[in-house]
Amino acid sequence: MEEKPGQYGSLGGLVAGVREAYESGRTKEVEWRQAQLRGLIRMVTEEEDAIFDALHEDLGKHRVESFRDEVGVLVKSLRNTLQNLKNWAAPEKAQVPLISFPCKALVVPEPVGVVLIFSCWNLPIGLALEPLSGALAAGNAVVLKPSELAPSTAAFLAANIPRYLDAKAVKIVQGGPEVGEELMEHRWDKILFTGNARVGRIIMTKAAKHLTPVALELGSKCPCIVDFLYSKRDCQVAVNRIIGAKWSTCAGQACIAIDYILVEERFAPILIELLKSTLKRFLTEPGFMARILNEKHFHRLRGLLEGHEVKSSIVHGGHADLKTLRIEPTILLNPPLDSDIMTEEIFGPLLPIITVKKTEDCIAFLKPKPKPLAIYAFTNDEKLKQRIVAETSSGSVTFNDAIVQYGLDSVPFGGIGQSGFGQYHGKYTFELFSHRKTVLRRSLLLEFMFRYPPWDEHKMRMLRRVFRFDYVSLVIALLAFWLLGLRR
Ligand code: NAD
Repeated sequence: MEEKPGQYGSLGGLVAGVREAYESGRTKEVEWRQAQLRGLIRMVTEEEDAIFDALHEDLGKHRVESFRDEVGVLVKSLRNTLQNLKNWAAPEKAQVPLISFPCKALVVPEPVGVVLIFSCWNLPIGLALEPLSGALAAGNAVVLKPSELAPSTAAFLAANIPRYLDAKAVKIVQGGPEVGEELMEHRWDKILFTGNARVGRIIMTKAAKHLTPVALELGSKCPCIVDFLYSKRDCQVAVNRIIGAKWSTCAGQACIAIDYILVEERFAPILIELLKSTLKRFLTEPGFMARILNEKHFHRLRGLLEGHEVKSSIVHGGHADLKTLRIEPTILLNPPLDSDIMTEEIFGPLLPIITVKKTEDCIAFLKPKPKPLAIYAFTNDEKLKQRIVAETSSGSVTFNDAIVQYGLDSVPFGGIGQSGFGQYHGKYTFELFSHRKTVLRRSLLLEFMFRYPPWDEHKMRMLRRVFRFDYVSLVIALLAFWLLGLRR
């Protein structure tokens, strides 16, 4: 069952046990990896209701939202990994130059070893099991520390993972920052951390002690450019998708949720009216939007609305109920750019709209800002799309939709700069937790002495030919030396 710090006197015993399981070699077997993936699929499908309950307890998520964002997308990804595992794990042939004949080169993916995963509370199933599945597919043993801030989900994982997976090679460690820090005292072969940049820095600093490579999945302010859209239908589709990516994904508590909108002045009133009327149609019951995680985050979000200038920029919503931890979908028009709501990651159901004279001005607005996890733009202007891709930098760019890139197994997911580094999802998760080992097989048949001293100008010329792949002249030169009896 669940492993708690202290069960072995300290976490040291637990970590040693996981390493022992890795050293046994069984995690490297493809059959073992497949069995773990099948176990995960069984767990998530058989325990679907228990997962929905846990997500509802932790975050008030509706079961349909939980299925869309956590269970459905995860099972799809697990099946994709299971289906492709043999291919991904197979050695890849690499080209070698003719001069090295006879020779074969292979790139062999090998597990990195024992992996530590820290997951976050907002998608507490997906952010735990997506990286776990890739780490297991790559043949590693894993310790997973779920976020203590989603306690029902953490308890679910601790109770169920040992029932469905190899309980010696996969451990769940529950606890808060002190447990996280204790885990970081041990040696790991790779660490994936999802959370805020402050803790990310602690993780990276501690990992340096053992030279452990880390991947940091952090937060940012993801902007969404809304171009002037002429067709009524296009406007409505854009608004549906903006609402989906702001309020219907954990109430905006998502790293790739839209943080704020940039729009031309003339289009802002139309956009706001459409947002209001569509919100009314979509969120007909309070339970159709998740609640705020806890009182601390509730007060943080309320704090973002403080200040006269910010308050007076609210054009919709603004009500908050501490008892239910619910904050109404709130829209602000042009809050001051130096206010906290425009300088900090919002991570909640508040949406500032910032107006610009011309849509193209958005690019100059974004350029000096820290690189976000995602940039979104609703536009039919191909030139603008090209400029956004070429002139801005971010983890991803999505046109005419938002947040859906998270669900794709075929593209990497991750940040750049202050939004983190290291990419995963689909094959990229497998690669994140694998080392690509070069295996070169040469033969002792042919030997060229010009690669060794004593040096002279002839050898220099031969080496120049080799690096230019100038085989004709190389063969002629070799023959000449051979015929002249000058073989070296
Ligand atoms: P959190 O509090 O759940 O923390 C994440 C993990 O770090 C938890 O397991 C926690 O126990 C652990 N932790 C906390 N303090 C620690 C310490 N001192 N030492 C070791 N471990 C410690 O999450 P949070 O920080 O509230 O996360 C919110 C942030 O995460 C936001 O900025 C959000 O954008 C970002 N996020 C990023 C992604 C992504 O994929 N890039 C996904 C979700 C959230």
